[in-house]
Amino acid sequence: MHAPKPSRVIIESDVSNSELAATLRANLPSARFEIVDRVQDSTRRDPNILEVVRFRGRLLKSCPGTQNYYCCGYRILHFGTQCTLDCTYCILQAYLNQPNLRLFGNTGEMLGELSTELEQNPNRLHRIGTGEFTDSLLLDPLTGLSKILVPFFAGTRNAVLELKTKTNFIGNLVGLDHNGRTITAWSLNSEQVRRSEEPKSATLEERLAAARRCADLGYYLAFHFDPLLEYPDWQTGYAEILNRLLDAVDPSRIVWISLGAFRFMPELKQIIRERHARSKIPYGEFIRGLDGKMRYFRDIRVELYSFMGEIIRKADPSLCLYLCMEGKDVWTEALGFSPDEQGGLAAMLDKAVEDKMKVGPGRG
Ligand code: SF4
Repeated sequence: MHAPKPSRVIIESDVSNSELAATLRANLPSARFEIVDRVQDSTRRDPNILEVVRFRGRLLKSCPGTQNYYCCGYRILHFGTQCTLDCTYCILQAYLNQPNLRLFGNTGEMLGELSTELEQNPNRLHRIGTGEFTDSLLLDPLTGLSKILVPFFAGTRNAVLELKTKTNFIGNLVGLDHNGRTITAWSLNSEQVRRSEEPKSATLEERLAAARRCADLGYYLAFHFDPLLEYPDWQTGYAEILNRLLDAVDPSRIVWISLGAFRFMPELKQIIRERHARSKIPYGEFIRGLDGKMRYFRDIRVELYSFMGEIIRKADPSLCLYLCMEGKDVWTEALGFSPDEQGGLAAMLDKAVEDKMKVGPGRG
């Protein structure tokens, strides 16, 4: 796949002399650059526009978990919003009233917040990701952000970075001194779902080849099967991608695999109907969960998770496998245990990092 090439870059004057603005100018020589006082919100989506603003809120955020389900205790480095991969199920379609690609030019402030957090909490492990409000690597060929973040984390004692993507844009990761502190992660789905619901993202072959290359470069890996969709003969599709994954990479490089059944805020249903008329995903039967999101009935979720869990555990019983936004009964029925037995989900993920990556506050 090819990286986006916006033809128009609108930059707020506050960040027009930033390092990010300079990198974008170098990487987009034929784009038109416009400097404005303040980028205005727009209701019209235009994939040719890239906005660069000074973000005035918290740049290091907590994962938007809810108290009713186990929370992974993740922190998110908020470097930008939106994504042009345009997956039919993407929650960003409903979340954000700014439809265009937007980056935050105050990268220095973001790193400052991160440094403060690490200094103030030296005795805990920090698991930090970037792919919550956009794809971690979609714009990396233009921004070079990974060339700043990966060495930053390499120099930390008790923090790991997870870069989560549906692209194969790993070019900037080659040759970086990552010091085993970065996890490169891919969202995966069955071939059928990839074609119908995420056609603009990298093919599964491209994603797995990129993962294998990253493992060869010494990066740790993670995979996220989210959203798992229930469709006719889903078992064949999901068994096939799991087998391809387990053939492509050595499971001992995988820090964790997550599973999350399709869930969405109610207002997304109408948006999917309007924007992705051919998609069938909003027409299943759903119930409203404790977090207000629509989700499959419990039995369907348990069936999806147990099916996936069985194949993964057969390949490597020690692999850290977790469920996104599920409660104790679903965990126990699908996987045979709940995170409570391991001190909670956050403690379980910390342990996976300590055991596999040998990173933690007690280590040098
Ligand atoms: S890759 Fe992720 S962020 Fe981008 S459209 Fe798809 S679901 Fe949304």
